[in-house]
Amino acid sequence: MMRKAFAGAAAWMTAVLITAALWGELPARWPEERDAPPFRCHADFSLADYASLFADMRELETDVLGALALTADGQPIDLFLFDRKSTYHQYVSHYFPEVPKRPALFIKSRGHAMVFAHRGPEFAVDVRHECAHAVLHAALPMVPLWLDEGIAEYFEVARGERTRGHPSMAGMRWTARFGRVPDLESLEALVELRDMTSTHYKQAWAWVHFLLHGPPEARDELRAYLADIAARTPPDVLSRRLRRRMPDLESRFLSHFRAWQRD
Ligand SMILES: [Zn+2]
Repeated sequence: MMRKAFAGAAAWMTAVLITAALWGELPARWPEERDAPPFRCHADFSLADYASLFADMRELETDVLGALALTADGQPIDLFLFDRKSTYHQYVSHYFPEVPKRPALFIKSRGHAMVFAHRGPEFAVDVRHECAHAVLHAALPMVPLWLDEGIAEYFEVARGERTRGHPSMAGMRWTARFGRVPDLESLEALVELRDMTSTHYKQAWAWVHFLLHGPPEARDELRAYLADIAARTPPDVLSRRLRRRMPDLESRFLSHFRAWQRD
């Protein structure tokens, strides 16, 4: 819950002007350095225990961009990992004094994409979540908040768990049995990260799951919408585009989750 309330400031970050001349001040070498393109990982602890996380990381860019039919900008993304929460907070507050305290962060400053995380209880989830934001923002000039968070939620679980093993799946299948559909327009109206509740995160995840794995028209429209954003063409609102394509959008959503098998 706390993580949901404070993690992933991607949309907000893009609106923040960070003025310090940062990059020149960061240490050149870290005790542990590892490449998982486009990620350049720098850690103050051994990453030997995180082979499965880095296996996911090596595929993350391809997975995100492939699912959404987007193209990377080719720039590296620096990932700074800390053993201790206190060191992480000290480090982030030193270099980014304007940034509120959060358990993990994606920051884009002067075109330089960076992810910061510490080895907390949700370390791997935090890393995948923030790195998904970073990949998305490397491909798009902007992303609506709800969609940004829904996509990051989708990709935050271990690679093999994305389609069926997400913690929000069981609850969404259950509510779909009762005909309840999260209000897409309400999600689209969210503009401030602080207004996003844990329920909004689950709902955003559910719409993204539907868009990626529901009717082919849903994925087509999502991809066309994102392609418009990438091309800086005014994209209209995604819900309107989806309803033009699928007037029975809510019943399609319900059918998707009612029919989705656990395994
Ligand atoms: Zn996020």
